[in-house]
Amino acid sequence: MSGIYFHIPFCKQACHYCNFHFSTSMKLKEQVIDAMLLELEMRKDYLPKEPLSSIYFGGGTPSLLDADDLQRFFEKINTLFQLQPNAEITLEANPDDLTNEKLKMLADSPVNRLSIGVQSFFEEDLVFMNRAHNAREAQQCLEQALRLGFHDITIDLIYGAPTTSDAMWEENLRIAFDYNIPHLSSYALTVEEKTALHHFVKTGKVAALEEEKAARQFEYLMAATTSVGYIHYEISNFALPGRFARHNTSYWQGAPYLGIGPAAHSFNGIVRRWNVANNALYVKALEADTKDAYYEIEQLSAADRYNEYVMTGLRTIWGVDLGHIAAMDETFATHFQKHVQSFIEEKKMIQEGKVYRLSSTGRLLADGIAAELFF
Ligand code: SF4
Repeated sequence: MSGIYFHIPFCKQACHYCNFHFSTSMKLKEQVIDAMLLELEMRKDYLPKEPLSSIYFGGGTPSLLDADDLQRFFEKINTLFQLQPNAEITLEANPDDLTNEKLKMLADSPVNRLSIGVQSFFEEDLVFMNRAHNAREAQQCLEQALRLGFHDITIDLIYGAPTTSDAMWEENLRIAFDYNIPHLSSYALTVEEKTALHHFVKTGKVAALEEEKAARQFEYLMAATTSVGYIHYEISNFALPGRFARHNTSYWQGAPYLGIGPAAHSFNGIVRRWNVANNALYVKALEADTKDAYYEIEQLSAADRYNEYVMTGLRTIWGVDLGHIAAMDETFATHFQKHVQSFIEEKKMIQEGKVYRLSSTGRLLADGIAAELFF
């Protein structure tokens, strides 16, 4: 199980809450793609020699790519790698880009899964977030995508925004369920440093986010998705049976992945590596064809690997396996067992044999519980 992530670092406009790497200027698009294809060629031996199980175009906004851009990516991928026959090929898309023409182009390409950044079906929320699409486009793109035969669709929805009342959140989920899409990712709005939202909260233009509201809407999300048959398989991800996202699941299960493009991360089981989050510097380093590092690396210690396993494992339905921890190091297993007991007693975690998982109450406190279990 291994996959490639392509980071497409361009967006039409900056969403107020977003701290991902992107540029709103498309001036360097051709050069960035050239550099990404070069990086792919240079790093073709990074992954184990086995057919790829997934490819993921994330960003930024990959739906800004046109047919020629995508063709260039797939031609290069096909010359350098083999793909499993049923490989999952996801492209993140924003509703305003998904015109009938763009959807037809995508349907004719190897892309077989769309991840659509809906965020909300309400105009107030979309304006507050400074999204480039409106409420009508949020639904229209889903209708058109389904009509054109895209059945592997996931959408993103954000809860906890000041504009999102509980009634609106319930309606957002009801609309999503009506489309019967197989997958949903849902995140609480957070205030990240260096974002417009951070500035607005700091200057009092927007009130600080209400934690209780986010917790309440998350609890509703868990109950509502379960009631219509979705499996809550990762803290922010919900899928109908058999429809888990393969690419993201491989991240959570520690499989190796190769990340290409500005700000993209890679992992080979031991070393993490991330590229410079600057389009011009990325292009310059690759164009120069020198060994100039355009990336940083971090060698994970045994304790880092344990902490990461606990952090990601607890966020998933698969939980944390004490046998796996013991195989890493008995000291970690002793540490884990000592600290996990209080969470079991408080019913924040559930133990089944050697496997430990978060309960629904525990899911509200996932990061804090993981931190308590770190070595
Ligand atoms: S479209 Fe996505 S990547 Fe771009 S600014 Fe908005 S949230 Fe961030």
